[in-house]
Amino acid sequence: MEAKQLQEIQEKIAAAKAVAVLTGAGISADSGIPTFRGEDGLWRNFRAEDLATPEAFERDPRLVWEWYNWRRELIADKQPNAAHYALADLERRLEAFVLVTQNVDGLHAVAGSRKLIELHGNIWKVRCTQCEAVTENRDVPIVILPHCMRCHGLLRPHIVWFGEVLYAPDVLKSARAFEGCDLMLVIGTSGIVQPAASFVSLAKDHKAFVVEINVAETAASLEADALLLGRAADVVPQLLMADRS
Ligand code: NAD
Ligand code: ZN
Repeated sequence: MEAKQLQEIQEKIAAAKAVAVLTGAGISADSGIPTFRGEDGLWRNFRAEDLATPEAFERDPRLVWEWYNWRRELIADKQPNAAHYALADLERRLEAFVLVTQNVDGLHAVAGSRKLIELHGNIWKVRCTQCEAVTENRDVPIVILPHCMRCHGLLRPHIVWFGEVLYAPDVLKSARAFEGCDLMLVIGTSGIVQPAASFVSLAKDHKAFVVEINVAETAASLEADALLLGRAADVVPQLLMADRS
């Protein structure tokens, strides 16, 4: 990253009144959690798209829970990295701030982010397929098959799977944040999964300055005003170092 480019973007961040951030699996890759599309994203030769679906769960809930146990085990001992912490710190310095994540690992909350929308749910929560009650469950491994304490219905991960509808109030809040921000950061997301992918266009349509941070170019890169190529844990803290006082 060129020093001049970095300084220009830091000045924009310092001047921004409202910042909205979108993060994806790439920000947690630096904490040791594999992305879906990276080389470690496979489990027993299944692709995530074949397991994280309502059809897969209906067909074989045991298999889907076994995969989630593997993912829970992978995530359980992982810690937030410098990028998660830098975003939590930025939130404390701004009046208007929203962090929208597609990650389900819960690391943003552990790092201290509070104005947080977990668009795809959270791997440490379960939901009853009968009575819909949502509860926290941090068991590793979780008992297979887990059942609801209230009604004995089958529990599923409280995660929005491929082909499922997102929780409408979260989408609305996210859309408002991206429409209303003057600066957007897009960190470690492939820009393929909707509606997150459309948030960049939304921010651009409303004249926000969009900064993307990723190890590679993505579908969002053409629209972004600046692309900072590098690992989130290196680039994000460096970018957000700027003193806003
Ligand atoms: P993705 O796997 O499709 O893409 C990850 C992106 O991160 C890619 O663009 C890649 O180039 C980039 N990347 C990889 N390492 C990086 C690094 N060190 N620094 C910066 N960028 C890096 O993930 P996605 O776009 O978030 O969406 C796919 C779905 O995967 C989401 O629905 C999400 O719920 C799920 N997912 C979540 C987790 C998690 O919670 N940690 C992990 C895997 C997948
Ligand atoms: Zn129940």
